[in-house]
Amino acid sequence: MFIPVDKTEEHHVSTTTSGPGRSVIVTGAGSGIGRATALLFAREGARIVIADVDEAAARTVAKETEQAGGTAVTVIGDLRDQAVVDRVAATAAEEFGGIDVLVNNAGIMDSMSAAADTGDDEWERVIGINLTAPFRLTRAVLPHMLAAGKGAVVFTASEASLRGSAAGAAYTASKHGIAGLTKSLAVMYREKGIRSNAIAPGGTITSIQVAADQGAHGPTALAPYMGNVGSPARAEEQAAAIVFLASDAASNINGAILPVDNGWSAV
Ligand code: NAD
Repeated sequence: MFIPVDKTEEHHVSTTTSGPGRSVIVTGAGSGIGRATALLFAREGARIVIADVDEAAARTVAKETEQAGGTAVTVIGDLRDQAVVDRVAATAAEEFGGIDVLVNNAGIMDSMSAAADTGDDEWERVIGINLTAPFRLTRAVLPHMLAAGKGAVVFTASEASLRGSAAGAAYTASKHGIAGLTKSLAVMYREKGIRSNAIAPGGTITSIQVAADQGAHGPTALAPYMGNVGSPARAEEQAAAIVFLASDAASNINGAILPVDNGWSAV
């Protein structure tokens, strides 16, 4: 069926075209992809909760966000802590009167270990930060979006959401979990005005740390596939895709895992 487009809306990217800017949460906004995302939202005048465990970094990005035209509030803490998750959602709702966009971005890399070499500590740390925390924050934010009848959730997934050769067992499992959560939300809330999508970045220049033991089985087993990575992206290239997926320009995109990887996933 052909649905006519309202031409007056055609070039609008942001949900809000007048009045206060959108209310946005960005986790891991103190660095890398999260920082670039906060700064890009700021350019549309968004009001942004900068959530990060690194206090100094979060405060610096909050200043940069204000300079870029946004409004920033910081929530400092480890998102594995349920109290921090609750504080992030409550801060956005109370300070900004609702939550339009949730960007679940904070994450850590694993040590590229194969399953047999992955200890409980590494598994729980990676799954806790990369999968459980985004699930819990989404759960805390959904009542606000449901009350408003609208909202957009965007996850920073990974090339490791698409294939088994981009990271170790824990990271790969966590990011495949994010792809599943992205799709589950899309199906369950599509009639409620809430969209859920993810970007799947390939290698991107950020501060993310990889402490891989190059002699170990995991990194050795992965080495033949790493030649497919290609040239790394800039954090701003990932941010552009996140802000697009959160915008009205993506109004019919729901449950998508969008590779931003210069073709790595096409190889
Ligand atoms: P980054 O290290 O530059 O930024 C991550 C931010 O998250 C940091 O500011 C850090 O303090 C914060 N953070 C980490 N753990 C946290 C916790 N428990 N609670 C609160 N904040 C926490 O890294 P980045 O590359 O910008 O990572 C952002 C996302 O991109 C992650 O989910 C990562 O898995 C994903 N990703 C990155 C790449 C890449 O090549 N850089 C590729 C694919 C996916």
